[in-house]
Amino acid sequence: MTSSKDLQGYYESLLKEVDEKLNDLYSKETEEEFNQKLKENGFSRRDFLKWASFLTATLMLPPAFESRIAKAAAIKERTPIIWLHMAECTGCSESFLRTREPDIATLIFEQVSLTYHDTLMMASGERVEKHLDEAIQRYKGKYICIIEGAIPTKDGGIYLRVGSKGETGLERAKRVTKDAKVNLAFGTCAAFGGVQAAHPNPTGAKGVHDALGIEIVNVPGCPPNSVNMVGTLLHILLFDKIPPLDLLYRPLWAYGSRIHDYCERRAHFDAGEFVEEWGDEGAKKGWCLYKMGCKGPLTYNNCSRYRFNQGTNWPIGAGHGCIGCSEPNFWDTMAPFEEPNDESGIRIPASKGVEAASDEIGSFLAGATAAAVGIHAAGSIIRAKASKTSQKESE
Ligand code: SF4
Ligand code: SF4
Repeated sequence: MTSSKDLQGYYESLLKEVDEKLNDLYSKETEEEFNQKLKENGFSRRDFLKWASFLTATLMLPPAFESRIAKAAAIKERTPIIWLHMAECTGCSESFLRTREPDIATLIFEQVSLTYHDTLMMASGERVEKHLDEAIQRYKGKYICIIEGAIPTKDGGIYLRVGSKGETGLERAKRVTKDAKVNLAFGTCAAFGGVQAAHPNPTGAKGVHDALGIEIVNVPGCPPNSVNMVGTLLHILLFDKIPPLDLLYRPLWAYGSRIHDYCERRAHFDAGEFVEEWGDEGAKKGWCLYKMGCKGPLTYNNCSRYRFNQGTNWPIGAGHGCIGCSEPNFWDTMAPFEEPNDESGIRIPASKGVEAASDEIGSFLAGATAAAVGIHAAGSIIRAKASKTSQKESE
C-alpha cells in the first residue's frame, strides 16, 4: 500500500527500475519488430506515440514516463496472463473488450500476453484443462492471474463448479493464484463479492482477497471501466510492478478521487439545483441527481473523467445517479439506489441559488486521504445498515 506522500519517491524509484530494465531488454531490433507489428495492424508510429502519451496521462505518471512507455511496449518479453471466471456475468470481460476496433493496448494484451481465458478460448472440455495445467506449470511464478467473479465459500465451495474435472471455484482459484506473480481481481464481484455476496449471501460468496487471504490488486466496478482494467494491466506488463494502491487495494490512479469530484453536474450540486423527480424541469436541464439517490459523493472511481464505451457516455450523463458500484457491499450499503443515503452524513446546499461556500465532502479529496475517507464513509454506512438489519431481525 502506498500513501500519496510516498508517490514522488515511488515515481523516482520506478523511473530508475524502468531504465535498468530497458537497458537490459530494449534493442533497436525489438523496436523495429514492434513497429512492423503496429503497421500490420493498421497503426502508424504517430498513433502509437499518441497512445503512449494518453496512457502516461491516464496512469497519472509524470511526463518523463512517456518515452519509457513507448520503449517498454516494444519489448518482446511479456508476462503471460491466465484469466479465470468464478460466479459472475462475464460483464467485466465484455467491458474489457468493448472497443470498436482493436487498439494498441488490445494488441499488446491479446497478441502478446493472453495465455488462457475461460470464455474467450475456442477449445472446451478436457483440452482446456490440459492447457490450463500446462500454462501454470510452464509459467510458474511468472504469470499474472486475473479473476473475474466472486468465490462461493460455504460448504467447501460446492456452489460453484468449473471445468471438466468438476473442481470448485475455490479449489481452482487457490490452485492458479498460488503460483502467480501477481493476482488481479477484475470487477466488484472478484474484489468484494458483488451481487453474489449481497444479503443473505446463501453461497458464502466472497471477493478473492477475503476468500483466499492472498495479496491482490482490486479493480472494482460493475463493470469496471476498460480504462481501469487495461491501465492497471499495462502498468504491470510494461513496468513489471503494481501501481500504488489505496487501503482497499485499488490503484490510486483510478480510484483516488470520487465520482462527485469531477462530475459534470457538480456545479448544480454546489448551486443547490437538484432533480426532484424523474422527468421534471431539473432533469431536463441536467441538474444534480443527489436527491434521486446518486451515490457519487461516496464513490471512489474515475467514471466522471473517462466515461464508458470510448468516452461516449456514462450513467450520470444518461440521467441516472451513480449507484456506488466500485465500493464494497454496494448492493446492501448503497441501496435503495434511487433515494439519498440517510446515513451518509452528507449535507447538501439548502436551496436553489445558494452557492456552497464550503463543501464538507469536497474538501477531503485525492490520494490515500480520500481513500481513507472512502473507507470511513463506507464503514459508517455499513455499520448503520448492519445495526438496522439486526434491529429488523430482532423485531
Ligand atoms: S451528487 Fe451525483 S449527480 Fe450530483 S454532482 Fe455529485 S456525482 Fe454528480
Ligand atoms: S458511475 Fe458509479 S455506479 Fe456507474 S459505473 Fe461509475 S462507479 Fe459504478
